[in-house]
Amino acid sequence: MTTPSTPQPRSHIREIPAYVPGKPPTPRPDLVTYKLSSNENPYPPLPGVVDAARGAVDLMNRYPDMGNATLYAGLAARLGVPVEDLAAGTGSVALIYQLLAAFCDPGDEVVYAWRSFEAYPIAVTSAGAVSVQVPLTDDARHDLDAMAAAITDRTKVVIVCTPNNPTGPSVTQTELDAFLATVPPHVVVVVDEAYLEFVRMPDAVDGLATYRAHPNVVLFRTFSKAYGLAGFRVGYAVAHSEIAAALRAVSLPFGVSAVAQVAAVASLEAESALLERVDALVAERDRVGAALREVGWDVPEAQGNFFWFALGERTAEFAAACDEAGIVVRPFAGEGCRVSVGEPEANDRLVEVAARFA
Ligand SMILES: *Cc1c(COP(=O)(O)O)cnc(C)c1O
Repeated sequence: MTTPSTPQPRSHIREIPAYVPGKPPTPRPDLVTYKLSSNENPYPPLPGVVDAARGAVDLMNRYPDMGNATLYAGLAARLGVPVEDLAAGTGSVALIYQLLAAFCDPGDEVVYAWRSFEAYPIAVTSAGAVSVQVPLTDDARHDLDAMAAAITDRTKVVIVCTPNNPTGPSVTQTELDAFLATVPPHVVVVVDEAYLEFVRMPDAVDGLATYRAHPNVVLFRTFSKAYGLAGFRVGYAVAHSEIAAALRAVSLPFGVSAVAQVAAVASLEAESALLERVDALVAERDRVGAALREVGWDVPEAQGNFFWFALGERTAEFAAACDEAGIVVRPFAGEGCRVSVGEPEANDRLVEVAARFA
C-alpha cells in the first residue's frame, strides 16, 4: 500500500448520506408563512419551562451535571423505572449513534424499515456498520415478518420506528410481540418512540411493558416533538441496566446542556399542560386527515404529528405549490412529501394545495 499524501478519513465516511434538514419558510411580504417541515411542536414553550431554562443561563460558565441526576430522578419517578435503566443524550438521534458505537463492530448489520427516519442510514454508515433496509408494505407500514427474515448472524441491532417517520403508521403491540418472539436474544431491538405521545389507536404499543418483558429492547424517546424542546437537544433511552450503561459509557461527556436538563425536568413537571396541547394537535391532525380524505387523498394512517403524501414524480411540484401557499414541507425526491401538523391556518392551506393534487 502506498502512503497517502494527505490525511484520509476511514473509507466508509465517504459513503455517509447527507442529512436534509427541513427548510425554514421563505419570508413573504404578503403572507404569514409556516414551517411544516421538521415535525416540530407549533406551540411556543410554556412560561414555566422558559423561566426554568433562564435560571440555568446564569450558570453558563459552569459545566452541566454530567450525571444528569435531576433529569434521571424525574424520569425514573415519572416512568416507574430504576435510574440505572436510563441514558440521556443530545436528542434521541445521539442515542442512535451511541447504541451503534456500543454494539456494532465494522460490518455488523442493522435492520430497519425503509423509508424510515433519515438519520438511521447516516448513523449506521458513520459507525462502519451495514444498513439492511426492509421495504415498507404498500400501506406504508413496517413489514415485521420481512424484518425478522432479514436478521442474519451479522445482525446486532434492529430498529422499529413507531409511529414511522415519515409515513405515519404505528405497529401494534400484537405485531411487536410476535416479532420480538422471533428475534434472537442477543440482538438489540430499538423501539423508536419519538412520536409516542400522539398515538391514539387500539392495541397501541406499551413501550415500558415491552422493555420490562424483553432484556434486549431499548426505548428511544425525545423531548423534541410533543414536549416542544427540539432546539435544546435532549432525549433519553430506557433499557435494562447493561444496555443503558453501555449507552452512557459512550456518551459525549457533558453532552446534555444545563438549560436542556432544566427545561426537560420543568417539562415533566408541566406535563399535564403539555399533554393538553398534544391533545389539541391530535384533534387537529384528525380534522386535517378527514379533510384530506374528503378532497380525495388516501394518506397512510397518521399516528404522529405529520402526514405522508406518496407523490412519486410530483413530489417537487407539490413542495413548490406548498411554498407558493406559504407553507414549507419536507420533500423526499421522487417519493413523496412529509407535512407536519401545524397551526390551523397552515393546515387549511395544506388541504387546499392537496386538493389540487388529488
Ligand atoms: C425527531 C425524531 C427523533 C428524535 O430527534 P431528536 O431531536 O434528536 O430527539 C428520533 N426518531 C425519529 C423517528 C424522529 O422523527
